[in-house]
Amino acid sequence: MTGRDEWTGTLQLALDHALDHLSGSDARPVGATASLDELRARLGRALTDEGVPPHDVIDELVRDVEGGILNSTGGRFFGWVIGGTLPAALAADWLVSAWDQNAAIHACGPAEAVIEEVAGTWLKQLFGLPNTASFAFVTGTQMAHVTCLGAARHRLLARAGWDVEDSGLFGAPAIRVLTSSERHGSVERALRVLGLGRRSVRSLPCNDDGQLAPSTLAHALADSTQPTIVILQAGDLNIGAFDPFAELIPIARKHDAWVHVDGAFGLWAAASPRYRHLLRGVELADSWTNDGHKWLNTPFDCGYAFVADPKAHRGAFSHRTSYTMFVDGARDQIDWTPEWSRRGRAVPTYAAIRQLGRNGIADLVERCCGHAHALVTRIGRLPGASVVREPTINQGLVRFLDPHPGATDMDHDRRTDAVIAAICASGEAFFGGTTWRGRRCMRVSVCNWQTCEADIDRAVAAAGRVLGRPTM
Ligand SMILES: *Cc1c(COP(=O)(O)O)cnc(C)c1O
Repeated sequence: MTGRDEWTGTLQLALDHALDHLSGSDARPVGATASLDELRARLGRALTDEGVPPHDVIDELVRDVEGGILNSTGGRFFGWVIGGTLPAALAADWLVSAWDQNAAIHACGPAEAVIEEVAGTWLKQLFGLPNTASFAFVTGTQMAHVTCLGAARHRLLARAGWDVEDSGLFGAPAIRVLTSSERHGSVERALRVLGLGRRSVRSLPCNDDGQLAPSTLAHALADSTQPTIVILQAGDLNIGAFDPFAELIPIARKHDAWVHVDGAFGLWAAASPRYRHLLRGVELADSWTNDGHKWLNTPFDCGYAFVADPKAHRGAFSHRTSYTMFVDGARDQIDWTPEWSRRGRAVPTYAAIRQLGRNGIADLVERCCGHAHALVTRIGRLPGASVVREPTINQGLVRFLDPHPGATDMDHDRRTDAVIAAICASGEAFFGGTTWRGRRCMRVSVCNWQTCEADIDRAVAAAGRVLGRPTM
């Protein structure tokens, strides 16, 4: 029943379809071309009583999704902050599915547990974090925030004499959260899940460079002696701003605050000698988050949490039952994540880091930053465009101006959204929009290992053609 032939036809078919997808990206539109109705009509088959041969399942699946798969693995996808996937990382991800281990505890998948130990150590070395920090592999930065802030909640309340794991939050001392206005929305959602609530957040204003100023933080901290979490940014989503960690963290320390750093993509700057200075002092924080599925170019479902105090981390999450099996000296993943059953998501990270090495990661980071700079400045120089923010790293902003005399900011907003939509509709490149300081902008984000100069030329040319249309 389980001979090689049983698998070959279906897996070979998947490989062929995957290769068509991955190698054909230059010729295909970057955005989706199928409408919602079309996709529902094709995929919304009636539930059948009888099954279908696996070969047909895969063939029909690939036929049905046609036009509904964004070409984000290719080099001209600049929307949100979305990386592609490295060959070694993708292949390793397939093997994770083939091995089908439950990477919850060492006993369920010994090799994957050890791979996770090694990959966690490598990541700390790449980011320059303390080698004593604990870590967790979770679905993404969203859950990494939940993990890190769960550890923060544990320690801050323990210090106030409250066992939150035992007693919950009813009657507990209130925790306040100080963070910059440029935080990612996933921070608030983590606080909602942890029972701290949106109202625990006090949003502090940023300077012109999107950074929290030391005097602003010092002033906010001086207000109260409440247990406090300070959340800082290593690369914000619009302009890639870095808070001045070396100045801010010692101020937070003086007030016994827990400092958490959202470094979803920006922490990768640590891998590059050219950009590392942006992170000066980041290692002084209490917890950090990052994604492999963005800039490291692993497939999705790959985020990392790091906590300087392993006792707080473990105190918040460790889980023991009578039916688990423990191996002396082993690291059980279940003690560090909010999950039970999970895939061996450290394996693609292990493979990606092996494929690139320190130099390859530095080169990936620097190439993306260079391409982002070229895209923003070259599109920004086109008639009818203007640079709003040149990238510090790999994120920048451009705006498109309505040429009519007397055009208002609202007209420029509309024009900006229309130009973004037209560039995406051309199929030549994909960008997203954002509202930054009250104005609509096109976000330029480069995270893909495959993006090359020819991709930048094609994207700039596509923007030029859209702006040159008489009716735009
Ligand atoms: C993407 C992102 C997040 C959320 O990460 P997920 O991996 O999507 O959960 C949080 N913060 C920043 C700055 C991000 O760019």
